[in-house]
Amino acid sequence: MPIGTPHDDDQPYVSNLSGNSYVAARLKTDGRDFVKLRIRSARTCGHLHTICVSCARIWDQDWHLLWERTGGGRNLKAAIEARDETRL
Ligand SMILES: [Zn+2]
Repeated sequence: MPIGTPHDDDQPYVSNLSGNSYVAARLKTDGRDFVKLRIRSARTCGHLHTICVSCARIWDQDWHLLWERTGGGRNLKAAIEARDETRL
């Protein structure tokens, strides 16, 4: 990481993420711009500024999660669906 780059690991709306590391989301109440939610493993996710298989459903209450927009989004959605199937 270059000197002077903000350490934005836990910030919700970082802009310089690769497509495999975030889910695009749009706030349901205002909805014009989308943000990038960093994907974490369930073990390291704080469930506040980042998203994981455990908290995606909570995010989904207030945000439109644009799963198909990024590789990371597609992967996370697949992981959530696989997890749901094992619970049935
Ligand atoms: Zn989480």
